Amino acid sequence: MNILLVWIQWSWKWTQARKIAEMFSYSFFEMGQKLRNFSELDLAESREVKQYLEQWKLVPIELTWRILVHYKETHKDGFILFDGIPRSVDQKDMFDMIINDYIVIFLDLKKDEAIKRLSWRRIDPETWESFWPDFEWETNPITWNKLITRADDNPEAVCKRVETFYQNTLPLLALWATEWRKVYTIDAGENVDKVFEQIKDVIQNKIY
Ligand code: AMP
Repeated sequence: MNILLVWIQWSWKWTQARKIAEMFSYSFFEMGQKLRNFSELDLAESREVKQYLEQWKLVPIELTWRILVHYKETHKDGFILFDGIPRSVDQKDMFDMIINDYIVIFLDLKKDEAIKRLSWRRIDPETWESFWPDFEWETNPITWNKLITRADDNPEAVCKRVETFYQNTLPLLALWATEWRKVYTIDAGENVDKVFEQIKDVIQNKIY
């Protein structure tokens, strides 16, 4: 079964997504990363997309449609773990037309905890993997990239992103509830291993 990951900012969804993909052999589709890649191409449209990304605005739906369709067509075998799409009711309608067969896993985190975690986070600038505060090294031991703090990891930006999340995504949860779509809420306030235990329980015992 395809899985759609919905998360509050700073719920370390990237780490959880990677664990899901590894343990259960899912392909991982991350809309933000696809758009970042697209924005680096030498195309006029890419330069426009870059501006949306820099302002944390949602890029026009038509492009997300094209990216999604292309990914589906090139990943016909196995299941896909989706992240970062849909982020609005319009995108949900579009997503349902392309990928109808999915359940939702919602990584729920209180806003205060999200903002607290902000000050902890360092990432690998190439893989975007997040590192815990008790991680003592300056580099990622796998890639040897020096860990950095993301330029947009500041309280103002995180508040804006959390608010955008509430505005755009909570209505989706309400819609899924009315459609009887299976939505599993995970307490993402726990540590990485405990959060993954909850997710594993859903995938192994609930969805199949
Ligand atoms: P993320 O890495 O998921 O935080 O996404 C980074 C940026 O990519 C967002 O601020 C948006 O500009 C863009 N983006 C990500 N997902 C979408 C989406 N589903 N629709 C439109 N724009 C998106």
